[in-house]
Amino acid sequence: MKVNAGRAAPEELDLINKYTRTPLEEKDVYAFSVVLCDNEIDRDYERFSGSSLERLGELYVGVTGIADHEAKSSNQRARIFSCRVETVKDKLCSDGKTYKRLFARAYIPVTESSGEFIAQLDSGIKKEVSVGCAVRHRICSICGKDISLCDHIKGKKYGGRLCYATLEEPTDAYEWSFVAVPAQKMAGVVKSYGHSGAQEKEKKKGVSATDIEKKLFAGEEQSFSAEEMKELVSRFKTLEKKAVEGEFYRDKLIREAKSLSAVVLPELSEDTLSRITEELSVRQLDELIKAFDVRAEDILPVRPQLFRDNALTGNNNDGYRNI
Ligand SMILES: [Zn+2]
Repeated sequence: MKVNAGRAAPEELDLINKYTRTPLEEKDVYAFSVVLCDNEIDRDYERFSGSSLERLGELYVGVTGIADHEAKSSNQRARIFSCRVETVKDKLCSDGKTYKRLFARAYIPVTESSGEFIAQLDSGIKKEVSVGCAVRHRICSICGKDISLCDHIKGKKYGGRLCYATLEEPTDAYEWSFVAVPAQKMAGVVKSYGHSGAQEKEKKKGVSATDIEKKLFAGEEQSFSAEEMKELVSRFKTLEKKAVEGEFYRDKLIREAKSLSAVVLPELSEDTLSRITEELSVRQLDELIKAFDVRAEDILPVRPQLFRDNALTGNNNDGYRNI
C-alpha cells in the first residue's frame, strides 16, 4: 500500500473509522508507520519467533499508544489500525536468521494539541517504540524447554552456541509507546510474561522482585503465581551463578592471604590462619591482604631493586649491563 507521509489512504480511512464515533476524513487524521518489534535477539537475550510476530500483529490492531511522553498532560494517544509482519530483504538477524519485523500503521486525530507531536513525527524525531505484551512460553535455544525449567542461562554460550529465549504464543498486547531516547536500537522493549488478560494488565511493569521478597519473608503460607515462580527461579539461577563466582574469588583471596602470611607472620600456624580467614568477609580478607602486602614489601623488596642493589654493590659493572 503506497501511502503519502501523514496521509491515510482511502482503504486505511475505512479501517480508522471503525474506531471513531463520527467518520473522519482524510484531512482529520495523521497516519504514520512504526516498527513495533522484530525477531532480532535483544539485550535481554530474548527474541520473538516469526509466529509470535504474526500473533502480535493481530493483538496490536486497535491498541492505543502513548504518543507524547514529554507532555503527559496533553495525553496524546495514537491508535494502531493495521499491522503486518514484513521480511526485510537482504537483512539478516545477528545469528543469520531471516530478519522479520512487525510493522504497524497508526493514526492520531489532527487537532490543535496534536500539532507539535505531528511535527515531530514528520521530522523523524520520534522513531523508537517500546511494546508491552505477555507471552506464554520462553523457549531455551539450547535444549528447547521452557527456560524457567532448564539450567541454561541466557547470554551464556554452550559449546559455542548462544543461549537465548524465543518468546512464543503472545497472549496479550497491552501497550506501546514512543521512548524518550531513541539512541538504542529497539530501546527499552518492555515485556512481561504470563498467561493472559486482565491479570497481565495489572502487572504490565513486570513482577516486582520486592513484592515477591515480602511474600517470601512474611513467615506464613503464601501462594505464588506462575509468573512469580518464573521470576523466583530466574533470580535463584542468577544468585547461584554469582555464588559460584563469589566462592571462587573468596578461595583465591584465602590462598593469597596464606601465602603472604607465610612471609609476614611465619610463626602463625596454617590451622590458626585458616580459622581466622573462615570468619572474615571478602572485604575483610581484602583488607588483610593489603595490610600483609605492605609488610611483605618491607621484608621482601621487589625484585628489580634487589637486582640493582646486587649490581651496584658488585665489584664489576657487568651485572649492571646485564640487567
Ligand atoms: Zn535449556
